[in-house]
Amino acid sequence: MDSGPEIKYHAWLVKNHWCARCGRQDARTLSGKYLCFSCAEKERQYHRAYYRDAAQMQARKNKELRERRKAQGLCSTCGAALPTQAYPYRTCPKCRARRRELDTRRREIRSGFSRELREEQGLCVKCGAPRKEGTRPWTGEAYKLCDRCWADAAAGLKKGRAAYQEKYGISYGQRRWNHEHCIRDQGGASP
Ligand SMILES: [Zn+2]
Ligand SMILES: [Zn+2]
Ligand SMILES: [Zn+2]
Repeated sequence: MDSGPEIKYHAWLVKNHWCARCGRQDARTLSGKYLCFSCAEKERQYHRAYYRDAAQMQARKNKELRERRKAQGLCSTCGAALPTQAYPYRTCPKCRARRRELDTRRREIRSGFSRELREEQGLCVKCGAPRKEGTRPWTGEAYKLCDRCWADAAAGLKKGRAAYQEKYGISYGQRRWNHEHCIRDQGGASP
């Protein structure tokens, strides 16, 4: 191990509670520290700026990569090819599924409550609030969601169906009916 004059001086400063950087101020009161308050503060600022710059640079790089993938019609997260040109999302189905799972897990961790536990206790499986009263009209089963989550889910479904109608020019129900009656085989307009 190197023990030149510099190292010895450093050891001497620390041993005598002098600041190891400026050699002037008393570092004794700072338990186990070898820098005086002002040098320690400078050091902290330096590190903070260093990490902030590094984080900013990484964020910029990530953003550029996402933009590049987006421009090429690739998943902005993993770079995989997206299903079709009309595909409305920026990430592939795999990344979207992973993302959803992560979001759900994060929510569960935050609430300290798993879906299974909520199911067991007869609470809204999505958020843990008391469930919507009554039973589902078409199955007679109890609701598994609270009023708010149920309304959210219904609105999402409605939106999805509207998007479907927009895309195919036919309602989801109509298409299913067509499919079931095999209109396609007779040259119908079903996609
Ligand atoms: Zn100092
Ligand atoms: Zn992806
Ligand atoms: Zn809910």
